[in-house]
Amino acid sequence: MGPTKAIVKGQALCEAVSGKLIRDGFASRQAMEDYVRQHYVAMPVLDNAGKPWQLDGKPIYCLHGVQYETVDDQKVHLARCPDCGGMGIRADELTVDSDCIRCTACGHEFDARLEMMET
Ligand SMILES: [Zn+2]
Repeated sequence: MGPTKAIVKGQALCEAVSGKLIRDGFASRQAMEDYVRQHYVAMPVLDNAGKPWQLDGKPIYCLHGVQYETVDDQKVHLARCPDCGGMGIRADELTVDSDCIRCTACGHEFDARLEMMET
């Protein structure tokens, strides 16, 4: 079992799948992040501008620092753009030996091998 995947709704954290309230009334983003660190909760990945990553309209979670998953626990091969922090997807999904990743936010192309460690 991984951490509870949460979404942010105003001052509240809710479970991403069920929409159930985890906790309401956070005074600040910092307070929310502190709570997440102390509990087994994952927050959606944000780019450097604070905009959440979205794949097919769903938030993305980063587990264990390297593994990206959708809300449905599907592992996805993504990498963080070194420029804007945006979501990078494999430029050619059919070429397995290529690790060329393209940022969906700014179009920057980079080599995922520099950004993530294969497990
Ligand atoms: Zn980018």
